[in-house]
Amino acid sequence: MNLTLEGKTALVTGAGKGIGRQIALTLAEYGADIILNYRSLKADIEETQDEIQRLGRKVLLCSCDVTDLKAVKQMTEQGIQEFGRFDILVNNAGITKDNLLMRMSEEEFDAVLDTNLKGTFYCIQAVSKQMLKQRSGRIINLSSVSGILGNAGQANYCASKAGVIGLTKSAAREFASRGITVNAVAPGFIDTDMTAKLSDKIQKDILERIPMGQFGSTKDIAWTVAFLASDMARYITGQVISVDGGMAM
Ligand code: NDP
Repeated sequence: MNLTLEGKTALVTGAGKGIGRQIALTLAEYGADIILNYRSLKADIEETQDEIQRLGRKVLLCSCDVTDLKAVKQMTEQGIQEFGRFDILVNNAGITKDNLLMRMSEEEFDAVLDTNLKGTFYCIQAVSKQMLKQRSGRIINLSSVSGILGNAGQANYCASKAGVIGLTKSAAREFASRGITVNAVAPGFIDTDMTAKLSDKIQKDILERIPMGQFGSTKDIAWTVAFLASDMARYITGQVISVDGGMAM
């Protein structure tokens, strides 16, 4: 069996850059039509849109902040109007606001939880309504190695990504009998703007903690997501797949 997503429609959140952009492109390469969600970054998202169109796939641009429930509902309605169905949801939108726990403000804590955890909950709730009608679907949530191991200076981020794991397993249990699988991918350190923000010293320290001795690429994550979204992964649900060069083993 070859990996194909022909005839499927995928919504990818935070698809303007980094991992989300690569996931959208890879799902399109395997044949899916794509709904590209973004918050800002108009030029980058239009470039992604062009690339997907060049692959011969349909693409819909949806500007929406995933922390806004009303906007998330509108985005899913727009998706249904355009494509009639949702086969794949990738909850990728995420932020960091790092600080030591003793210095972390309530705003820093809430902003990260709102985007990474509540945003994922909103999107699952809105999209699964349609998937339940179809009695089929694939939901893939971006967690993180930090949600598994914890990380000094990232109490908000680690709590949100650990929360994503609990959310994934609960949703997987609720939807298992309805043909919908729900899994999480837990990236290690991947070359994107999010990790570029880390100081040279922190990057060097992290490299020493990665058994494979290198950061991952956005493609490493996108290929795993494509597999989980495909029929090849039909019997996998409620799992957390680490893609981290061995960090969390
Ligand atoms: P980037 O910072 O490069 O990109 C994040 C994307 O999410 C941006 O396009 C951003 O849009 C979007 N986004 C943020 N907040 C919202 C929101 N409220 N609504 C809609 N979109 C939003 O991150 P990465 O590509 O590195 O990370 C992608 C995912 O992978 C995240 O969930 C992250 O936590 C996770 N991850 C990343 C790791 C890494 O090493 N890079 C490691 C482990 C997990 P905008 O720019 O407009 O705000």
